[in-house]
Amino acid sequence: MTEKPDCIFCGIVDRHAGSDIVWEDKLVLAFMDINPVTDGHVLVIPKVHSVGLTDIAPETAGRMMTVAQRLAQAMKDSDLRCDGVNLFFADGEAAFQEVFHSHLHVFPRFPDDGFTIGAHWDGRSNESLTASALAIRAVLDRDGDGLELTGRGGETRPERDVPPRPRSGHSTSPPRPAGPPAGRGLAANPRP
Ligand code: 5GP
Ligand code: ZN
Repeated sequence: MTEKPDCIFCGIVDRHAGSDIVWEDKLVLAFMDINPVTDGHVLVIPKVHSVGLTDIAPETAGRMMTVAQRLAQAMKDSDLRCDGVNLFFADGEAAFQEVFHSHLHVFPRFPDDGFTIGAHWDGRSNESLTASALAIRAVLDRDGDGLELTGRGGETRPERDVPPRPRSGHSTSPPRPAGPPAGRGLAANPRP
């Protein structure tokens, strides 16, 4: 594989840097995260250098998800503590990406494992949800994508007669007061 200079994950692919590898095939490599959120935390990466989410070749992106499924099942069937699994993909600095070679985090979860997501899971009005849908749909419609089954023509969804449900169960942390997000996304183990 062609190594991109100064890319630590390319170095791992080419074995110029060490890692504990758990999976390798033609398209992807998976190895243990050096700073795990929980024991068993794996990174699944494309072997060909890409930076974020959308520049991964489609076949490779699909393969990454298939490998993540297989690894998640292996974690659950292993001796590791693993009652559930999270996948996490940081696409861009604003999304807490720190290593700019695309990677999919796969890590075991269990009660009180210390992992939190510092997010506001606030409800939104129907109008706000529809406006967001239309913003995304405008681009998909422009490109002729995304509505194979529901048809097209500007409709979004029937009006709901119930207010949006508050989201729950997504975080082990209590709801936070309004303000800037706290820390990075993967928060169980602060980085050195
Ligand atoms: P990001 O915030 O970019 O989604 O996460 C990058 C991940 O790469 C972090 O969880 C970090 O611990 C891991 N990482 C950074 N450098 C290395 C390394 O040299 N080897 C391994 N195995 N993992 C690394
Ligand atoms: Zn790379």
